[in-house]
Amino acid sequence: MIVCANPKAQYKSYKSEIDEAISKVLEGDKYILGDEVEAFETEFADFNRSKYCIGVGNGTDAIEISLRALDIGPGDEVITVSHTAVATISAIERVGASPVLVDIDYNYFSLDTNYLEGSLTSKTKAIVLVHLYGQAGDIVHVEEFCKKNDLYLIEDVAQAHGAFYKEKRLGSFGKVGCFSCYPTKNLGAIGDGGLITTDDKSLYEEMLKVREYGWVKRNSVIKGINSRLDEIQAAILRVKLKYLDNDNSRRNEIAKIYNSINLEEVLTPLTRPDSTHVYHQYVCKVQKRDELMEYLSSNDIFAGIHYPFPVHEQPAYKKLVKPHSLEVTEKVCKEIISLPMYPELPKESAFLVKEIIEEFY
Ligand SMILES: *Cc1c(COP(=O)(O)O)cnc(C)c1O
Repeated sequence: MIVCANPKAQYKSYKSEIDEAISKVLEGDKYILGDEVEAFETEFADFNRSKYCIGVGNGTDAIEISLRALDIGPGDEVITVSHTAVATISAIERVGASPVLVDIDYNYFSLDTNYLEGSLTSKTKAIVLVHLYGQAGDIVHVEEFCKKNDLYLIEDVAQAHGAFYKEKRLGSFGKVGCFSCYPTKNLGAIGDGGLITTDDKSLYEEMLKVREYGWVKRNSVIKGINSRLDEIQAAILRVKLKYLDNDNSRRNEIAKIYNSINLEEVLTPLTRPDSTHVYHQYVCKVQKRDELMEYLSSNDIFAGIHYPFPVHEQPAYKKLVKPHSLEVTEKVCKEIISLPMYPELPKESAFLVKEIIEEFY
């Protein structure tokens, strides 16, 4: 059986180090916000060449905490896309702001900057740029637009830990970078976790307060939430961070095999110029998608769809603001397939996936 993602395989490959890291926490005397979290925050900030990093409960909270600390709330609008994890949009709604959904571009699956001008209003405060599947969105144009219109750029880097645009890692371009450490992500915990990066000291201090009840010295000076990364997850993530670049290279090796699929019916993913791709997902646009999925699963190969429904078509989100129709978003949902992808996936398995796809067409 070949599965789409396999966090257990990653545990197995670093088992002795992870087990040791966990028992060190168990035998220690602090289980929340102790040395492990602090060390991990410093190490991740170094890795990302950001000045500050905060460990939080999950990726959705990372976005929510950023928005709150930037004082974005009711009456404000935040531009983002519908072709993303529902988390991106739920975080915007949780602070009381209105998500404004723009379409994506067909080649790279990310926010189409041609729509930005037409989506801007006097209420627009920020753009959440999702670096989907493992590579940069259109960072140059989004950055430029944010600067020109005095908007905050919030990067959703939940799927692109370690990826570069030119010489810089994603999550170091915007006012803040928001990461998820959900188990299947490129840097995944064995449970929930999230991270926020920033270069802005006062924003960093504000976000620290929001993370834990608005506290300064156990005194709630503002209203906060509770979203802490725990010591066990931080200890595990410290182990995995050391191997992140290497794991991302292994994903690239697998992608190379899939890239050699040479069929009219299969459009393999493109990498944006000047970018590296870390293939959180390897997403092709294919003909007869559902039939292909079925054929693969009859051969014990389990592909995924990220995502089967755009957020604006899901029952809870039908009333979201859309300045224009989301044609490309709605079109790609029917064509996309995520092939099995994780660092430990044996090369022979990737070749087999390729073979079965060729056989199908
Ligand atoms: C996973 C993900 C999130 C949310 O992260 P959680 O840790 O599950 O809250 C946000 N945005 C994107 C693009 C994601 O893939």
